[in-house]
Amino acid sequence: MDRHEPLSDSENRTDLLLRGGTVVDPSLDLNRVCDITIRDGRVSAIDVGLPAEGHRVVDLSGRYVFPGLVDLHAHICWGFTDIGLVPDDICPSTGVTTIVDAGSSSWPSQEAFRRNVAEPSRTRVFGFSNISSVGIPTAGTPELASLRFVDVDRSVASVAGNPDLMTGIKVRQGQHLVGDNGIEPTRLAVEAAEQLGVPVMVHVGNTPCPLGGIMDLLRPGDIITHAYHGHPHGILDDHRAIWQDVIEGHNRGILMDVGHGAGSFKFDVAKAAFERGFFPDAISTDLYTVNVNGPVFDLPTTMSKMLNLGMALEDIVRATTSIPSAAIGKTGLGTLRPGEAADVAVFELEEGAFDFIDSHGDRRTWPLRLTCDMTLLGGEVVYNRHSADMDRKPVGTHGTDAT
Ligand SMILES: [Zn+2]
Repeated sequence: MDRHEPLSDSENRTDLLLRGGTVVDPSLDLNRVCDITIRDGRVSAIDVGLPAEGHRVVDLSGRYVFPGLVDLHAHICWGFTDIGLVPDDICPSTGVTTIVDAGSSSWPSQEAFRRNVAEPSRTRVFGFSNISSVGIPTAGTPELASLRFVDVDRSVASVAGNPDLMTGIKVRQGQHLVGDNGIEPTRLAVEAAEQLGVPVMVHVGNTPCPLGGIMDLLRPGDIITHAYHGHPHGILDDHRAIWQDVIEGHNRGILMDVGHGAGSFKFDVAKAAFERGFFPDAISTDLYTVNVNGPVFDLPTTMSKMLNLGMALEDIVRATTSIPSAAIGKTGLGTLRPGEAADVAVFELEEGAFDFIDSHGDRRTWPLRLTCDMTLLGGEVVYNRHSADMDRKPVGTHGTDAT
């Protein structure tokens, strides 16, 4: 067989022993060197000194091993929005095994999302349905300028009819997106989500009122995305402390998500917040066509920024695995618990001098960078940085074996 021939499915799903990596899995309260065995696409054991018999051994000494990453906020409705990226183009090489579209689609485009995006993707795909029927065709579309674009009943019916795919309701609450409608869009999003028993994700930044006024409408498990934006009505008061009502909302169980994006993450805001112990619950990219070549690039770059800003590695892993998977009600993902699908992200923590840039053009040179070495999806190696052929299966636009 030609060495460059992709491995067949059965060969690629050979039972593996991942040996000697530092496994960080907050869902298992695990942060130590140990082995993982994978059988039939699932984690079969995780312990020190597991026997190799019957398994192909992969030496991961000196590497970190995380559960496959979950990006809670991205835009992947390629083909029918201007902002959508192709999941299988961006995920395998970055350790991301589950990606969540944050409101690019809504009830009229639900079927397009399923057929064009979710079904052809090898990467696991979920979505939040926009409370506006318009969805997000372009980044600047004011989809909530008129409340005629909101139909709570149809939104509820659509999400309820697609429980395998749709995991929440999205609302963009920016002033330039909602016109004269104040915070009524968020109230309507909560009304829909309440009927469905799913979370609401609220885009903030230049909101019509202070953040606390929006958080007052939210329930535990709802999500504020763009939490560290640098625009008016952010998390910081005039003394660069966290607003008391924001702390109270967070303590009540509202999740704070990074949602980096092209305009929604400021180093200085995150630094001030981190110094006061106000860290994100979820770290997501808000990746879309305009920011994938910078300033966001990918989830590991976003995680590296958090690391250099002082967030602990274990908390960063929790914020990209168990918390986002729980937020969308998929607790079998974002974990290496035996019996669950073997989604695994192997990382190298590089030391050197690395350049980073935020959404406001502020630049920093920092000493740490997380780089993805290998990604397994359901026990299958879908990316291997150090092997051009044997362990790497081509990842195509449509995620099939066809060329
Ligand atoms: Zn977004």
